[in-house]
Amino acid sequence: MVIGAGECGGRAALALRDLGFEGPVTLVGDEPHLPYERPPLSKEAMTGEALSIKAIATDALFAERAIRHIHSVRAVAIDRAVHVVQLSDGSSLPYQKLLLATGSVPRTLPMPGLGERCVYLRTFNDALAIRAHLSAGNRVAIIGGGFIGLELAAAARKLGAAVTVIEAQPRILMRGVPAEIAEIIHKAHEAEGVAIRTGQGIAAIADDGAEVSITLADGQAIVADLAVIGIGAVPVTALAAEAGLAIDNGIAVDEQLRTADPDIFAAGDCCSFPLAVYGGRRVRLEAWRNAQEQGALAAKNMQGAEEAHAAVPWFWSDQYGLTLQIAGLSDEGKSIVRRDLDDGAFILFHLAEDGRLVAASGIGPGNAVARDIRLAEMLIAKRASPAPEALGSQAVKLKSLLAA
Ligand SMILES: Cc1cc2nc3c(=O)[nH]c(=O)nc-3n(C[C@H](O)[C@H](O)[C@H](O)COP(=O)(O)OP(=O)(O)OC[C@H]3O[C@@H](n4cnc5c(N)ncnc54)[C@H](O)[C@@H]3O)c2cc1C
Repeated sequence: MVIGAGECGGRAALALRDLGFEGPVTLVGDEPHLPYERPPLSKEAMTGEALSIKAIATDALFAERAIRHIHSVRAVAIDRAVHVVQLSDGSSLPYQKLLLATGSVPRTLPMPGLGERCVYLRTFNDALAIRAHLSAGNRVAIIGGGFIGLELAAAARKLGAAVTVIEAQPRILMRGVPAEIAEIIHKAHEAEGVAIRTGQGIAAIADDGAEVSITLADGQAIVADLAVIGIGAVPVTALAAEAGLAIDNGIAVDEQLRTADPDIFAAGDCCSFPLAVYGGRRVRLEAWRNAQEQGALAAKNMQGAEEAHAAVPWFWSDQYGLTLQIAGLSDEGKSIVRRDLDDGAFILFHLAEDGRLVAASGIGPGNAVARDIRLAEMLIAKRASPAPEALGSQAVKLKSLLAA
């Protein structure tokens, strides 16, 4: 059984069948939809005439694969002793192996004064509600200069809304993105007319149901028709915690994505796991590809494969015509080497103290950095220590470093 019908849970259910599992597969999700892609909800999809869901499977595919998808129902308790999950509709279901793919939810802003014009973006229904306010003449305040907030700012500008981004840190994208790249994104937003207020805490919020008034720490007031709060996400762990499973910045699993209960696995945004490429450092990733990869790996290991998670983290973001891609964990780096590519694109290679390549962050128009980031990812997986001069020179093909 899989709990959580998101990217990870949906992929895991399909993978169980791809791998030849013939027993019953049940996918329980509390949203009313088929499992769907979340990344489009803050990007281009927001700017179309009508927002539509990009499902990762159809009812027909689930039927053909004999996957039972129970939607709009929440798993409320796990009785590990008898291997039964209780659901919010009062029913209960037995399991042999259980995958928790409960994802994450937006971190809430702990302030008084929030009302119906202060919203978060995680689900398709959230996106629909936000979309209704993104039109010319409307004012949108985005609290938090992280990926989701900035992508949404770009979409809102495209639709003609007036946008202000408020960030408490001294710069946008403080977490995991080098200053040089954040600066380019900052300038792109300003060029498109977004007002960015960095280093600004919020002193007060007043939401009267028609508009939101945000008072910044320096006393300035920003009045908006909608405030979207994007200050990070927290893993959904209550179900696991109440079942007595260990929580450590997410549901704690081993390198095979197994909890301390040999019949319960966790994967995707909800879990923390030891990342082999970084000496077993425990991390939790909030990334689309990780959710897919871990869903597939959990499906394998639920059938006894005993395979360790060995992937290098990878993330992307699209804003205006720019694509940012990051492979690896940049906070492991001590020094940076820059490689310029065509069309103004560039990649920053992050090297550890011992010279090992630990991350690569790139930005450029369209797909300009995709190929080299992919090669960097392979170098990181190999734990390679390429010469900084070679990394920095466009004349040296990254592929040749892989062969070395
Ligand atoms: C707007 C947006 C844009 C994004 N853009 C990018 C991007 O550009 N690049 C990138 O790499 N990543 C991006 N992400 C992140 C990516 O979408 C997530 O990492 C991915 O969705 C995680 O998949 P998941 O299945 O682990 O969790 P989720 O997709 O959150 O799915 C978990 C599901 O489980 C359900 N659930 C939870 N508890 C229960 C329960 N007890 N019973 C039943 N159901 C339950 C939840 O309601 C949810 O439907 C974005 C996310 C958002 C929200």
